[in-house]
Amino acid sequence: MKISPAKVFARIKQMLIGISGLSAKLHRVRGYKKITIVTYHGIHSGELPLGDHCFMHLDLFKEQMHYLHRHFHVLPLEEALQITDYKGKKPLAAITFDDGFYNNYSQAFPVLKALGLPATIFLSTNYIDSHNTIWFCDLLRMLSQTENKTLMWQGKRYHLKTDEQKQAVSRLLQAELKIKEPHDAQQALQALARALDCDLDYRYREDSPFYMLTAAAIKEMSDSGLITFGAHTHNHVILTKTSLAHAREEIQTSIRETEKLTGKPCYSFAYPNGRAEDFNEEHQQILSASGIRFCATTINGLTAPRQELLAFKRLFINTDTGIEVFKLQVHGHR
Ligand SMILES: [Zn+2]
Repeated sequence: MKISPAKVFARIKQMLIGISGLSAKLHRVRGYKKITIVTYHGIHSGELPLGDHCFMHLDLFKEQMHYLHRHFHVLPLEEALQITDYKGKKPLAAITFDDGFYNNYSQAFPVLKALGLPATIFLSTNYIDSHNTIWFCDLLRMLSQTENKTLMWQGKRYHLKTDEQKQAVSRLLQAELKIKEPHDAQQALQALARALDCDLDYRYREDSPFYMLTAAAIKEMSDSGLITFGAHTHNHVILTKTSLAHAREEIQTSIRETEKLTGKPCYSFAYPNGRAEDFNEEHQQILSASGIRFCATTINGLTAPRQELLAFKRLFINTDTGIEVFKLQVHGHR
């Protein structure tokens, strides 16, 4: 494989600025006009049934939180987005979690509490207080449980002998299913369950990394004053993959349910999947009319306060993002 000189130069530059805190120093030179908003999903401390880029080990999460605590001024998301004329000595950051996994409470919350770091959790409200989970976790669970050594899917044969093979199949199927309409995606998931000889009907419990938050855990975190909750649709539906009427229902139900769970108004929303093609202006109008002021995307980058409030950028923190790459990322070098 041929690598261009420009790529080699960019890589060397990245390595150099990653060494000895240079990324933080360069950030200071550039000024602290933008906010670093980090995005997590699940945090786990035991073995994962099957590795996935959305589930980070607690040790790595702790290390990253200590870094933010030391080098950033971490504010509640909504406060950071509205700040005017920031003159602080540290760059601004906000912490977010998408989907609403129970481990945000059992694993992440104690770390955040110990360091006094505020965070926002975006809830897919239909899974709260249930034994169900978001479809991609069903897929991960079935791939980890299946005793089949191959999968015949759409006329192709996939090997499932090793965890690496299963993870590769998981990535491929996740990409395929998430661009389907909700009904078609559900049917595909059922067909996959049959092909894998697994049961789609499964009761997730507290000991599973895929178990979703309970009302009691949400209330406790909300009452602590440290954690804010936002909406993330009721069934984790990608807005552009469904009708506008259905999108409206998904948005409004999740806002209403989030408010019921916390007893507080809900001003924030995160678009499921969150890329530019996953939402449009019509959805933004519905969100505004429903009282939402801040909408999170998964478009990569730092975000300027008081701008693009209905589509602000964030940094996706990959599960294998070690602390050196993390330092580059949060200081805006990747
Ligand atoms: Zn999500």
